Amino acid sequence: MHLWHVFVLPRRLMGTMLLAVAVLIALSVYYTYPLGIYTLRLVKQDILYDIMLDPGHGGIDPGAIGAGEIYEKHYVLDIVLQMAEILRSHGLKVGLTRETDRDVSHLVSEGTRHRRDLLGRFKLMDQAQMGMSVHTNSTKNKEESGAIVFYMNDQYVDEIYAQIVLEELEKVQVLNEPRPIPRSTLLLLKAKPPVILVELGFMSNPTDLAKLGDPAFRGNVAQALCSGILRFIDWRYGEQSESGSPI
Ligand SMILES: [Zn+2]
Repeated sequence: MHLWHVFVLPRRLMGTMLLAVAVLIALSVYYTYPLGIYTLRLVKQDILYDIMLDPGHGGIDPGAIGAGEIYEKHYVLDIVLQMAEILRSHGLKVGLTRETDRDVSHLVSEGTRHRRDLLGRFKLMDQAQMGMSVHTNSTKNKEESGAIVFYMNDQYVDEIYAQIVLEELEKVQVLNEPRPIPRSTLLLLKAKPPVILVELGFMSNPTDLAKLGDPAFRGNVAQALCSGILRFIDWRYGEQSESGSPI
């Protein structure tokens, strides 16, 4: 037996032990932050779409419920499907977080269904240059009505995006707030690209609910939101950039 055999074996053992420790550390980090937004952020995703549209809720999650068992999830899906068609006709690559009456929780494996659903939508947002989440609202005060646009605090580009969309929305729906509202607590707004969340009206308000139930109104809203998106794209890639390169 040569002398080096004595050293080779422990060195191999040492390598195996180090690997085992590394695996243990990786597993403990993974279970401490189970596929939270921090973990998702580490996953490099290709940009596949010009815009990701997110009709809120779906499947077992109805969202806001209006008098007569009318569900938010159906109205927002109808509006977003119309938006996808309009934007595609303008040559944009449009992604949708859902195209049918289902939620998005299947995309993420850890956490409660609600958490997985939110993280699934968040994950999809990172595949696009920009995003929009579309909702309708509800509150105990039946007087409250009108549209609200939320954007991420202190994000200048997101604020411009929210302001432009609000201006277009104002042409077809009353506003609940005259300016977009900054929020830091809405998970989707934390995605890498500019994302805004639009509340189109209150299903708890009879006037808003009647509007939302009118297919013509939903068509006008879809058109207004698309006008806002197209104006923002013009601003972002046109006036704002020196090269003027299109999206
Ligand atoms: Zn909603």
